[in-house]
Amino acid sequence: MKTILVIEDEQSIADTVVHSIEREGYAAVWCERGLPGLERVKAGDCALVVLDIGLPDISGFELCKAIRAVSGVPVIFLTARDDEIDKIVGLEIGADDYVTKPFSPRELVARIKTVLRRMELPAERKTKEGSSHQRLVIDPAKLQALFDGRKLELTRYEFNLLSLLASHPGHVYTREAIMDAVWSSDSDSFDRTVDAHVKSLRAKFREIDGSLDPILTHRGMGYALRDDL
Ligand code: CA
Repeated sequence: MKTILVIEDEQSIADTVVHSIEREGYAAVWCERGLPGLERVKAGDCALVVLDIGLPDISGFELCKAIRAVSGVPVIFLTARDDEIDKIVGLEIGADDYVTKPFSPRELVARIKTVLRRMELPAERKTKEGSSHQRLVIDPAKLQALFDGRKLELTRYEFNLLSLLASHPGHVYTREAIMDAVWSSDSDSFDRTVDAHVKSLRAKFREIDGSLDPILTHRGMGYALRDDL
């Protein structure tokens, strides 16, 4: 049974989160403070961390950095404010996803499953070999992308970004390479633009298949499209 660590100081929220995690067949461990949570991560038995940003003893951002220094365990942030979201998306804090308060337990559990699946990809890929069904189809002439036969409504930049990743599935593109290929050279956008567009692309895929994240994040390197689509 996978254990999910919940670091959240508000008991009512923690109760909801713990309950919905346990209902899905995971074990849940609750830490009310950040630093004991970090100790728990160091024990090495947690499959994923749900991390509140506003904690009494240390900010969730600082804690995530501390976790990253000792562990590759996936982290999903619980956030209450827009400026916190900007920070998660903009800075490379190393979080895998975030959920905005107030959130539905169902949404949180869906995110947890997606992140855990992403972690298991290498094993899963082996069993899928031999499948010839192509889920993602890109038509450059029509500037159109279909996923499971359904049209993805993409902006120009999202389409260009997806086309680039799909040109070599599995290949890791750095943010710099994506910027060069997708945005014009005189653009004054920052890296965060890439992250923001990856995020919106993911959301559009999630609308079609909530259990699948076709874009892989390679921490500190960049992004790749799954090579089994
Ligand atoms: Ca809090």
